[in-house]
Amino acid sequence: MGAVPKKRISKARRDRRRAHDALTQPHLVVCEECGEMKRPHYVCEVCGTYKGIKVLPGVES
Ligand SMILES: [Zn+2]
Repeated sequence: MGAVPKKRISKARRDRRRAHDALTQPHLVVCEECGEMKRPHYVCEVCGTYKGIKVLPGVES
C-alpha cells in the first residue's frame, strides 16, 4: 500500500492550504514600437525591439 493519510484533512485546513493556489495574471505592457502587448523588461516578440532599438534580426516590423 502506498502513502495513506492517517487523518482526514478538515475543510478548513484544506481551504487554508489552497489559499495560496490562485494563479496571477501575466504582467503585460503596451509595446512602444508596435502597440502590441508584451512582457515588461523583455524584447517585444512581435517587432523585435527593446527600448526603441531593433535587437532581433529577422523579425521585421
Ligand atoms: Zn513591438
